Amino acid sequence: MTFTPHGKHLIAGTWIAGEKTFSSEPASGPSHEFAVGTVELVDRAAKAAEEAFWSYGYSSRADRAKFLNLIADEIEARAEAITEIGTQETGLPEARLNGERGRTTGQLRFFASHIEAGTYLDVRHDEALPDRQPAPRPDLKMVQRPIGPVAVFGASNFPLAFSTAGGDTAAALAAGCPVVVKGHSAHPGTGEIVAEAINAAREKLGLHPGVFSLIQGGNRDVGSALVQHPDIKAVGFTGSLGGGRALFDLCAARPEPIPFFGELGSVNPMFVLPEATRARGEALGKGWAGSLTMGAGQFCTNPGIAVVIDSPDADTFVSAAKAALSEVGPQTMLTDGIAKAYRDGRDRIAGSSGVEELLTSNSEMRNATPYLFETTGETWLANHELGEEVFGPLGLVVRVTSEDEMQTIAKSLVGQLTCTIHLDDGDTAIGQSLMPILERKAGRILANGFPTGVEVADAMVHGGPYPASTNFGHTSVGTLSIRRFLRPVSYQNIPDALLPQDLRN
Ligand code: NAP
Repeated sequence: MTFTPHGKHLIAGTWIAGEKTFSSEPASGPSHEFAVGTVELVDRAAKAAEEAFWSYGYSSRADRAKFLNLIADEIEARAEAITEIGTQETGLPEARLNGERGRTTGQLRFFASHIEAGTYLDVRHDEALPDRQPAPRPDLKMVQRPIGPVAVFGASNFPLAFSTAGGDTAAALAAGCPVVVKGHSAHPGTGEIVAEAINAAREKLGLHPGVFSLIQGGNRDVGSALVQHPDIKAVGFTGSLGGGRALFDLCAARPEPIPFFGELGSVNPMFVLPEATRARGEALGKGWAGSLTMGAGQFCTNPGIAVVIDSPDADTFVSAAKAALSEVGPQTMLTDGIAKAYRDGRDRIAGSSGVEELLTSNSEMRNATPYLFETTGETWLANHELGEEVFGPLGLVVRVTSEDEMQTIAKSLVGQLTCTIHLDDGDTAIGQSLMPILERKAGRILANGFPTGVEVADAMVHGGPYPASTNFGHTSVGTLSIRRFLRPVSYQNIPDALLPQDLRN
């Protein structure tokens, strides 16, 4: 073992042990002890973050870019150990951890160049019109300013890219906001070593220690206290609908409510249109099975639902999916709790009336095997629970009788991260009829692809109407995600010497 976690919290530059500990539950390798978070530590971390804001919030973009690039370097310097502990804790394969590390460092560097370019500041200037009648116009300048300390909750299924130094942390630090991370109890050792990398970068640049803290979990009061702390000004959360909703409600009920940017789950429906089904039903069925089982189906963008119009071609699509799924062996899930929730979800779908089990298997312990179910459009429309996420490799075919019924299904959807259309030239008309509906339902619409795999880019939207996310106007992936941690400030007739650096002549 190249890395043995010490199990401490990182509070404003100091590693702190705890009286109580919790044991990690790795999929393989030894379990380790981690200090349980406390409300007192939340207070210390949040106050230190507020103190740090007075320097970090007013730092130059070049300095913050340096910090982000250095964090990426420090993560890379620990690559082997991160992959080792990450693989053990999550059960995800080594190649996946290596890939995710590249995505994480790439994201940090992408934000560095994004803030250096400066377009995100959205600088606006209305010049004074002193002679305007009937009243003169004042000089108005506007720029985006950082919001203050940000709390970050990462998800179990992306221990790097959506976690301690993941997209939320990168975006907040890029904006000029200190960060307090609530460590995920599914990968505390991975969280610790990544926090070590961030802290090393911070020390090298001599930044205020309150710029970054990590509080390990093991106690749900930590998360609740963090989102309610008066010094925390926004929350970035990636995780389940239940957890996200509970924390969102706490944020809304604060004396000073704050924005809660929750990126939650989704069933990511695919609409398989008739000509495409005819031309390549078999390939589409196989492709769906591949996307559905990738990473044991533990992706927020997992395409859990396929809507197809009844026909012999639909049979080909379904048979191909079933055949491909039946060849997928057991895969380790992220935690015992997630494996149990998967089986409970399977039982819920299997126990719903009007649902047929096409492929059954035997998921046991921490392993997941795929399940495939089928139902009619009528049953789907009568039972909204069929549209709730089952986190894991479970697919549901919704077989409809007509294009009209397909549109009715689309209209009945709740908010989604993604919706996909598989179409050929002959499907253009039905595709056109679906687009205005899907646009109202999802943050991202794809044609002839699979939604797993979210590009970190300028034009990416990873979000969507509730319950896909709690803020439909935002994204948690891509450069636009920085806007979550900024707010516009207008400066009226303010002398140049008093303006923020980014607005001075
Ligand atoms: P989770 O159980 O909601 O946990 C996320 C974090 O929130 C953890 O730190 C957890 O603490 C904390 N938490 C949850 N409920 C809480 C509560 N009631 N009070 C205080 N803290 C609470 O989610 P997960 O299992 O890690 O992740 C899987 C889910 O995330 C899936 O539904 C998946 O679709 C979704 N996801 C979404 C995206 C996206 O970008 N939209 C990306 C990846 C995953 P503990 O450490 O104590 O558990």
